[in-house]
Amino acid sequence: MDYMKKSYIIFFVSYLFSQNNFLVDYETVAKIREEGFQRSEIANTLSYMTDVLGARLTNSDDMRIAQDWAIKEMKRIGLKNTKIEPFMDYGVSWDNEFFSLHLLEPDKQVMVGYPIAHTPGIDGRKQLSVELVEIKTKGDLNKYKGKLKGKAVLATPPPKIDLDKYRTGTPRYTENELLELSQKPFPNAPRPPRPPKNPDLVSSIERNLFFKDQGVVAILESSSGWIAAVRGFARPGAKQDKWGRQETLDHLPIVAVTPEHYNRMVRIAKRNIPIKIELEIRTKIGKNRRQARNVLGEIPGTDKKDEVVMLGAHFDTWHASPNASDNTSGVAVMLEAIRILSVLDIKPRRTIRIALWSGEEQGLHGSREYVNKHFGNPNDPKVGQKSSYNKFSAYFNQDYGPGQYRGIYLQGNEHVRQAFSSWMKPFKDLGMTTISSQSACCTDHIPFDRSGLPAFQFLQDRVGGTGGHTNLDYYDTIPIEDIKKNAVIVASFVYHTAMLDKPLPRKKNK
Ligand SMILES: [Zn+2]
Repeated sequence: MDYMKKSYIIFFVSYLFSQNNFLVDYETVAKIREEGFQRSEIANTLSYMTDVLGARLTNSDDMRIAQDWAIKEMKRIGLKNTKIEPFMDYGVSWDNEFFSLHLLEPDKQVMVGYPIAHTPGIDGRKQLSVELVEIKTKGDLNKYKGKLKGKAVLATPPPKIDLDKYRTGTPRYTENELLELSQKPFPNAPRPPRPPKNPDLVSSIERNLFFKDQGVVAILESSSGWIAAVRGFARPGAKQDKWGRQETLDHLPIVAVTPEHYNRMVRIAKRNIPIKIELEIRTKIGKNRRQARNVLGEIPGTDKKDEVVMLGAHFDTWHASPNASDNTSGVAVMLEAIRILSVLDIKPRRTIRIALWSGEEQGLHGSREYVNKHFGNPNDPKVGQKSSYNKFSAYFNQDYGPGQYRGIYLQGNEHVRQAFSSWMKPFKDLGMTTISSQSACCTDHIPFDRSGLPAFQFLQDRVGGTGGHTNLDYYDTIPIEDIKKNAVIVASFVYHTAMLDKPLPRKKNK
């Protein structure tokens, strides 16, 4: 080999290395794909969680049963250091055990709905007449004084059903939309400040206190506007009184009803025709306050075992369905991803840790408390930075429904662009092509990001599921092939992060 040729090769090789510290281990990627596509267990895991375990409201007895299952499942797939970790006083448990609502007059009909979390049941089965109330401002309250005793009230304005969604479905991202997402500059322009609140408006807490005062027996409401679906959350004020037993017992029962059934009652009421319903709600409210808990498990690392790469999803759901999309599908993906890595016996350099969070739906409580306790937050003097802060590499989260990954959000961290571009390449055939410099919001990677720790959410097609938080979010609408792909991709990202010489780079402004 002549001198020129030799120096050219040396130059070329050193150029390659200086350009990319984030090379792909194609042999391991092949094994991950083989395991994840040819021996996938994700459908079975998702079915067990949605069909057998069901809904998992934070701190409910249902959630406790599910967490015990999660520990067993983690052990079954070979994880070590599995544990249930309490993170905060979360008041008393709340589990609905039975619910029925029937229209009796002027016609007979089974009605679909469910009780709002952290509201009490009612004694036995009750026949109630129903009154439409329209309360917006404090002045409106006077109209109803002395008129509501012993009744159920239709308390929210009738929702309008949006048919467009059902005409068009939810399409996958087109190539053009993905291109736009990849070119959108970061950060976004700041949002204009919110206008001040009108002091004359009645809050839902004030309205419900008025109903209680007036001797109302049950509050009926509907707010989703989604065909046949009910969306309902927790009693107003539950967060403020920290899910207290007495506050729950003292409140009126609230029932969310599908828009069709609710609006039928509203229209009858507007004709001044009497309405009678029969209602039964049996609810189990815990006697003692207790801690909400996260579930964790690990594949221990080797030469860098005191450093950690994390993957996770929130295990808690709202209570009206198993919430197959939000976020049982995310949990299934993360469990399958770590199962793949466990089965392949990859001997990661860093420890790989899965976290199944709780309290996400009520404000990212599980992940926030976990980050504060284990890594700390140098941006928050009350929390401070913990010694393991610099042992953390990255966290990968899924919580945007069950659609397949089309890319990943950098979360404003330009220093990981090269790594992610490189690690995406083996999955181009699966449609994983886009890097967005944007921040994804509002789920469990945020507490890590706020602490200055690299944490990411994938860019997903918004397909599958009936949307989170409804009574209709079951196994049947989850695109299983999509979540299989996601498990393979996240397994590979976690693997490559765990094998780097250095932790994944952090934003420099933190
Ligand atoms: Zn969610």
